[in-house]
Amino acid sequence: MTTPRKAVALISGGLDSLLAARLMLDQGIHVEGINFYTGFCVEGHTHAIRSKDKSKPKRNNALWSAEQLGIKLHIIDIIEEYKQVVINPRHGYGANMNPCLDCKIFMLSKAREWMQKHDFDFIITGEVMGQRPMSQRKDLLPVVIAESGTDDRLLRPLCAKNLTPTLPEREGWVDRDKLMKFHGRNRKPQIALAKEFGFDDFASPAGGCCFLTDKSYSRKLADLWRAQNSKSYELDDIMLLKVGRHIRPKPNYKLIISREEGENRFLRGYRKSFSTIEPESHAGPLTLIDGDIADADIEYAARIVARFSQGRAAEFVTLKVNHGGIEKRYTVPPLPADDIPREWYV
Ligand code: SF4
Repeated sequence: MTTPRKAVALISGGLDSLLAARLMLDQGIHVEGINFYTGFCVEGHTHAIRSKDKSKPKRNNALWSAEQLGIKLHIIDIIEEYKQVVINPRHGYGANMNPCLDCKIFMLSKAREWMQKHDFDFIITGEVMGQRPMSQRKDLLPVVIAESGTDDRLLRPLCAKNLTPTLPEREGWVDRDKLMKFHGRNRKPQIALAKEFGFDDFASPAGGCCFLTDKSYSRKLADLWRAQNSKSYELDDIMLLKVGRHIRPKPNYKLIISREEGENRFLRGYRKSFSTIEPESHAGPLTLIDGDIADADIEYAARIVARFSQGRAAEFVTLKVNHGGIEKRYTVPPLPADDIPREWYV
C-alpha cells in the first residue's frame, strides 16, 4: 500500500474551500485544514452579540466545514503578525480597507511554512479565478505564487483546469481530469456541486471573509487611525469597531453607544477600561467614552447619550457618568437630534 499524499487546505468556512477539500478527499488525498484567525473574521462576532440576530445559528463555519468533511482543523491565531498586512499592504487596499492580495500572499506563506513543518505535500484553496476582483485575478496569480513561495505546490481544485498543471497534477498525485474548470462570479456550478455532495447547509457566500470588506467598518477603522494619529491597533480596538453606534463630537474622543441589549451586555465587559455614561432615570444605552474627553465636555456627551435613551422626549434625563474612577450624576436635557450632525457618525 502506498502512503497517501497529504494536502493542507485553507478552510475559510465558506462553500468554495469546503468543495475544494472534498474533491481532494474523493481522490484519496489525506487532507487537514487550517483556518487563520485575524481578529477581523466575521463569524462568531456581531451576529453572536446582537439580540436581533438571535434566530441565526451561531457556529464556527470553519469547524462546521471540517466536521462535514471529517478532517482535522487547525485554527491558527495570526492576530499579531497580521497587523503588518492591514497596516501597510504592499499591494494596497481593495474597495474598502481590505488588503486582499497581501492577505492572500500572507496566508499562503503561512500555509507553506505549515506544510513544510508538518511534512505535507501541497496546499489547496477554494479559489476560483475571476471570482474576486482583487485577489483572484488570473494575471495576479504569478504574484501570489512568487511572493508566497508556494511555487507549483499550490493547487486550486475548483479552477485547476483553467491553469497550468501543478506539481500534484504532473506527478499524478491527483487526477487533473477530476478537477474543475470554474471561472468568474457565477456561483451556480458551486451550488450544483454542493448539491451533488449533499452539502445543503453551507455558509452564505455573500457574508464575506472579514470585516475589512465592510464599508462602515472600514470607515471606523480609518477614523480610529486618524484619531490616534497612527496606523496601529490592539485586538480590543478592532472588536469594538464591530459594536454600537460610534459618534465623534470632537477629534479627541468618541462615544460608543450600544444599540440594543446584546451590545449593552457586550460593552459592559469594557466598563473597567473606559469612562462610561449610562442613563438612570430612563432605560438607555451603556456608552463607552473612547479617548481623552475634557471634563468640560462630559455634560455635553451625557446630553448626546440622553438623546438615545427612552427619555429622548423628556425634559431632563439623569445619567450616571464614571470618569477617571469618579462617579457623578448629571441631569440634562437630551440634545435635539438636529444638533447631532451626520458627520459625527463614524
Ligand atoms: S476579504 Fe479579508 S480575509 Fe478575505 S482575502 Fe480579503 S482581506 Fe483577506
